[in-house]
Amino acid sequence: MTEERHIFSVLVENRFGVLARIAGLFSGRGYNIDSLNVAETDDPDVSHMTIVTHGDAQIIEQIYKHLNKLIDVIKVIDLTVENHVERDLVLIKVYAEPQRRGEILQIVEIFRAHTVDVGPDSLIIEVTGDEGKLKAVVDLLRPYGIQELARTDFDLLKERTVAVIGYGSQGRAQALNLKDSGANVVLGLRPGSRSQPAAESEGLTVKSIDEAVAEADVVQILIPDEQHGAVYRNQIEPNLQAGNMVMVSHGFSIHFGQIVPVSDIDVAMIAPKGPGLLVRQVFEEGGGVPCLIAIQQDVTGHARDIALAYAKGIGGARAGIIETTFREETETDLFGEQAVLCGGTTALIKAAFDTLVEAGYQPEMAFFECLHELKLIVDLIYTGGLSKMRNDVSNTAEFGDLTRGPRVIDEGVRERMRTILKEVQNGEFAREWVLENQANQPVLQALRRRESELQIEKVGKDLRSMMSWLEE
Ligand code: NAP
Ligand code: MG
Repeated sequence: MTEERHIFSVLVENRFGVLARIAGLFSGRGYNIDSLNVAETDDPDVSHMTIVTHGDAQIIEQIYKHLNKLIDVIKVIDLTVENHVERDLVLIKVYAEPQRRGEILQIVEIFRAHTVDVGPDSLIIEVTGDEGKLKAVVDLLRPYGIQELARTDFDLLKERTVAVIGYGSQGRAQALNLKDSGANVVLGLRPGSRSQPAAESEGLTVKSIDEAVAEADVVQILIPDEQHGAVYRNQIEPNLQAGNMVMVSHGFSIHFGQIVPVSDIDVAMIAPKGPGLLVRQVFEEGGGVPCLIAIQQDVTGHARDIALAYAKGIGGARAGIIETTFREETETDLFGEQAVLCGGTTALIKAAFDTLVEAGYQPEMAFFECLHELKLIVDLIYTGGLSKMRNDVSNTAEFGDLTRGPRVIDEGVRERMRTILKEVQNGEFAREWVLENQANQPVLQALRRRESELQIEKVGKDLRSMMSWLEE
């Protein structure tokens, strides 16, 4: 059976020896205690304990039953028994003088919450979970002094009309999730859009972009980033009203000035950290994909709350929301895709493939070793980090990894990565990409064609046709 980490929230009579009896239960039966935290409640006769433990399902059930049997125990709640549908998010601003910060951070850690902002004498903490867990955290933090408490309030969005512009990867996922959450969604598409029949058959109301924006209070732009500027200028801005909110799921167009928002609207970002298909699939299963939130312009004073409500509507609040800025999101996103995700990875694969082929090995062998098997490795890293991957490969592979990897990606590569990052930060990359689009993408088209003719692509196509489990 698989081991799971569980958090028990336990209310106990505030009697002498109660802590020892609970600790004794765990040590006597050999249960694990990962951490144990005791706090007072409003009632001086009652204490609140938070116990983090792990074990298989049977052990967890035993712990639950034994805790319940202890005479001092008033109530046990297993905070880990997941109830996705009821998951919610709160942001808590708590008074935290330096000497108490450690205790508060411990609570944050136990509940797998996050510290999203650190002030001179306060912390802002974000927690997601079901009602019981949120209440437990709030109760534990109350003694320190809660200065502000903001909860994702979906009603804020229900009172508004949301226009989703575009029905591609993100547009479809976000529009359908919002509709299923009960939001009033209208989809804005260009004339003759090929997505219109699909969107209508999935129950969405489709209008022109102008009409959708005119009707909406919140406009989420989900078309390719290089199209944002023109569509915003021509169809969105003329139909906005003061106090509306414009949103994006990636900061490029706003950070690099392709969209210059009028000054009397709110501007925010909710960016799911996953592709559209996943955003939809996980939502349908009752979960959500974590989202980034950033606020660029807040004229109504509600930008943050509305953006949070939007994140809740697409399912993000069920997983977690991480605060960032337009600048940070845009720069890290571009750098990541250039240095690793797309650019770095494809260049590494091609260089290694060419090295083997030039040395006289069969291209098929080179393909398997340098491209095909990458998926297995990435899957391991994705689920358990670098260490899990290294645990699962042979010792020979691990030794080769640790001693040879740093020679392939050496200081010279790191230096060039820093240069690439600078070009992102100083806008050089953005200018190149914007001009490229104004010129109708000549470089992109030429490079696409050249890459499609590479030997590795042809070999790959043939080999994949032998793999019945793959669909292209
Ligand atoms: P996408 O799938 O390429 O968007 C396609 C949609 O945009 C289609 O509905 C298309 O209309 C419409 N469209 C294209 N050009 C248009 C124009 N000039 N005027 C009006 N509509 C136009 O886009 P995406 O990948 O979802 O990305 C949308 C945004 O989400 C981007 O800002 C992106 O950075 C961000 N984002 C994407 C992902 C992802 O997984 N893809 C993840 C996080 C964030 P038709 O239906 O008529 O063809
Ligand atoms: Mg990205």
